[in-house]
Amino acid sequence: MAYVIPAPPQAVVPVAGSTDLFPVRRIYCVGRNYEEHAKEMGFSGREPPFFFAKPADALLPVAEGTGEMPYPPATSDLHHEIELVVAIGRRGRRIAAAEAPAFVWGYAVGLDMTRRDLQGEAKKLGRPWETGKGFDFSAPISAVTPIGRCGEIRAGRIWLKVNGQTRQDSDVAKLIWSVDETLAHLSQYFELVPGDLVFTGTPEGVSAVVEGDLLEGGVDGVGRLQVRIGPPAAD
Ligand code: MN
Repeated sequence: MAYVIPAPPQAVVPVAGSTDLFPVRRIYCVGRNYEEHAKEMGFSGREPPFFFAKPADALLPVAEGTGEMPYPPATSDLHHEIELVVAIGRRGRRIAAAEAPAFVWGYAVGLDMTRRDLQGEAKKLGRPWETGKGFDFSAPISAVTPIGRCGEIRAGRIWLKVNGQTRQDSDVAKLIWSVDETLAHLSQYFELVPGDLVFTGTPEGVSAVVEGDLLEGGVDGVGRLQVRIGPPAAD
C-alpha cells in the first residue's frame, strides 16, 4: 500500500531550549475570554466559553528570530489577537477543572490572526467563522515551554506591540475562564488528545495590521514571538 499523493507533513512546534518538536493534532480556540475584549466586540461579560478551531497546518512556528506572515487574501482588515496557548500532553474526556493541570504538557505564545471583515460578515449572517479564522498562516506561534520548566501559568503579563507601540497589555489572571476551567469545558465536547493546542483567548486592544508591520508579543513566564506581515503569498 502506498499513498497516492504525497502525505501532508506533520504540523509541529519546536520545544523551547531543545531540538525536540511538539507534534500538533488540532487547534482549538476560545472566543471572548477576557472581559474588556468581550466589551470591545460588543458583548458584556461572562457567558459560557465557546470554541472554534483552526487547522493544524495554519500554524506559523516562530521559535526564534522574526517570522514572516504573508498578508492573507480576501481581506482588508487583518487583526492581531495575542493569546496564551496550552499544549495538551495527555488524553482525557470530561476533565475536572481541579485535574486539568495534569493534562498540560506546556505553554506557548500564539497569535490568533483574524480576517475581521470576513468574521464580522459571518457573524451577521449566522455563518461559520472558518474564512475569518482558519486561513493559511493564521496561527503564528512561539516555541512550546514545558510545564516542568515554567510551572503552571495562572497569571503573567500578556502583551503585544506593533512597530514598537503597545496595542495589547493585560494579564493572564484576567481570563474569564481560567486554563483549568477552559479545559474542563472543552473536554465536555471533545476528547483532548496529546498534540492538541488550545488558544485561550485575547485581551482587549485588537486592531488592524498592514504589510510591513512588525508584531512582537509575549506572555511573561512562557516566551515571546516576533512576526512581520509580509507581502501576499505568490501564486
Ligand atoms: Mn482569539
